[in-house]
Amino acid sequence: MSAVTLAVAVDAPQHSGLTGALHYSSAQPLPPGTLLRVPLGKRDMLGIVWHTAAPATGADAPPLVLRPVGEAFAGLPPMAPAWLALVDFAASYYQRSVGELALAVLPPELRKLDAPGLAKRLAGLLKKLDAAPPPPATPVQRPQLGDEQLAALAAFHTALHAHADQAGAASRPAPLLLHGVTGSGKTEVYLHAAEAVLAAGRQALVLVPEINLTPQLEARFAARFPQHRLVSLHSGLTPVQRLRHWLMAHLGRADIVLGTRMGVFAPLPRLGLIVVDEEHDPSYKQQEGARYSARDLAVYRGHLERVPVILGSATPSLETWQHALPGPRQRYQRLALDARVGGGALPRVRLFDMGVLPRVNGQSPVLAPLVVDSLRQRIAAGEQSLVFLNRRGYAPVLHCADCGWKSGCPHCSAWRVFHKGERTLRCHHCGFTERVPRACPDCGNLDIAPLGRGTEKLEEQLAELLPGARIARLDADTARGKGQLEARLAEVHAGDVDVLVGTQMVTKGHDFRRITLVVAVNPDSALFASDFRAPERLFALLMQAGGRAGRDAGQASASEMWVQTWHPQHPLYAALKRHDFAAFAASQLAERAAAGLPPFSHLALLRAESRDAAVALAWLQDAATLAASLPGGDGVTVYPPVPPAVSKVAGIERLQMLVEAPSRARLQHLLAAWVPALHGQRSRHKGLARWAIDVDPLAI
Ligand code: ADP
Ligand code: ZN
Ligand code: ZN
Repeated sequence: MSAVTLAVAVDAPQHSGLTGALHYSSAQPLPPGTLLRVPLGKRDMLGIVWHTAAPATGADAPPLVLRPVGEAFAGLPPMAPAWLALVDFAASYYQRSVGELALAVLPPELRKLDAPGLAKRLAGLLKKLDAAPPPPATPVQRPQLGDEQLAALAAFHTALHAHADQAGAASRPAPLLLHGVTGSGKTEVYLHAAEAVLAAGRQALVLVPEINLTPQLEARFAARFPQHRLVSLHSGLTPVQRLRHWLMAHLGRADIVLGTRMGVFAPLPRLGLIVVDEEHDPSYKQQEGARYSARDLAVYRGHLERVPVILGSATPSLETWQHALPGPRQRYQRLALDARVGGGALPRVRLFDMGVLPRVNGQSPVLAPLVVDSLRQRIAAGEQSLVFLNRRGYAPVLHCADCGWKSGCPHCSAWRVFHKGERTLRCHHCGFTERVPRACPDCGNLDIAPLGRGTEKLEEQLAELLPGARIARLDADTARGKGQLEARLAEVHAGDVDVLVGTQMVTKGHDFRRITLVVAVNPDSALFASDFRAPERLFALLMQAGGRAGRDAGQASASEMWVQTWHPQHPLYAALKRHDFAAFAASQLAERAAAGLPPFSHLALLRAESRDAAVALAWLQDAATLAASLPGGDGVTVYPPVPPAVSKVAGIERLQMLVEAPSRARLQHLLAAWVPALHGQRSRHKGLARWAIDVDPLAI
């Protein structure tokens, strides 16, 4: 029998072509999705059979003598056609090669193994799984669902059965948007939906923004389904754990997969449900390599595999919200959970107008006296408070009043942050750290002072204002060491902390039972940021922060959130006061429509980096000229190159260029011609460090 030609996806650099699959010969046919080793140059790499190549003819013919494939991973089932289709779609949509994307989303440990190595791992794993003790027979108590939860589940069952009844037909269930504030019982709905698909012998995929912050969710699923295996997939696992969990999902030995954004690529032969919790969260967007949105891919995967997708949020992304608005263009079904479980009220939102406070030495006080009084009252009542400020460190910059010196980073266009505890100036962009100088490096003045404040200073000031109070800080600096985050959270849960100070890290996902007061110290900057999504993110952050308060119905009547602001009249705060996401979303959508911004247009961002800004600029200008010459370009606007907010990092200058199209299809049409041509132009631009395309960028 003659050898067959296989197209094999390997992690080859992008310029080898956007399809990214290389041809090899094989003595026998291997099904698409088979993992195997292949030679590439002098190396031996992991690859995936993408398809059997048609016998080549004419000019496109591959070289006559193809290298033979190496050994196939015989014991491992091939990646399913649906998985290959998902990767194909994602690679083409985000403009990467299939090989690069496919290999990037496999567990890295797999690349190190040869066929016998994997066979050994598999045998060990299966032996262990088969020998595992039978699970405890008593699942936890399940609450009686409320009316809104029941209605949401009824809609879910309709979607589930629509899919089951119509298998093979064109109808596919619409994604469900579960819209409810923190504590409205969304997770309980996920659990019931998962129960239904598990009972039908299917697997459930649950995506969360940051798994390290949500061990409670994992515990809840594990407790509810003791008879089912649950595995997690996230970057906090060791390579060996990640491989093991991935194998358990792929072999169908795990019924529930809880993952961060990478989880959307988990191989699941019996997939029956996808949940995306906090679907609006920016961490669903990968920020390097293939810059995919796991939320958007989850929706695509649900469509592809005909399984229901539940997107949950108190503050859905405006893209999702728009899809769920009633009307002829409605694509998602909105399911509302308007009440908190147990009748707990949302905190009363109070705005404090910082403009009324007298300034001392030109500075406003950190906290308004009224807010400090509220904190004292909560402490006296034995309740907990949460104070957050979105800036870590002691002060964002150190300053000499005599000569005007500021603690700039020599390598970045950014200030170095003063960290008082460690006596350092540290750049949060490149990491460059030095000891704090004794005197001004420019003029020798001994009196250099911090300007502004971060969480470290806030903690210090709170300690002065609230003598005797037990204050803890939670931010990327205090949570750096292993187990530090968990330890601090445990203290809060145990009631050993009166006031928890931190960055937005404190607002995410933690189920703090005893917090009755939340203070947002200085959230205004987002109101005027150049990024059009900043208000959307601020609203979500404040709603989420407020959601930390009053989750225990017993205390809920008294819970409140203070927002210290210089702009108390801003409509965003007015909507926040009423907890009125719909009104906020409507006003934002109206603004976006008027400005032609997403979701009313579709964007891509072309970024370029170089030591020499002129090189990056020339590259982008050439790219713009190229775009204008392409047939797909009509109706698409390419804006002039601009520097991002921080234009230089670690000595590298950065520039970016926005591309705006009236429809997704138009944008994709242009990108499909443009990006491969850009790869072709690359060699003409010596000195260009990097370039990248970001489709549907989150921040511009
Ligand atoms: P969310 O995910 O919207 O924050 P949860 O599902 O976590 O809400 O519900 C909040 C709390 O209320 C949890 O402790 C949960 O166990 C409980 N809970 C949820 N639904 C009910 C219900 N119908 N009856 C009683 N308790 C419930
Ligand atoms: Zn000076
Ligand atoms: Zn720096």
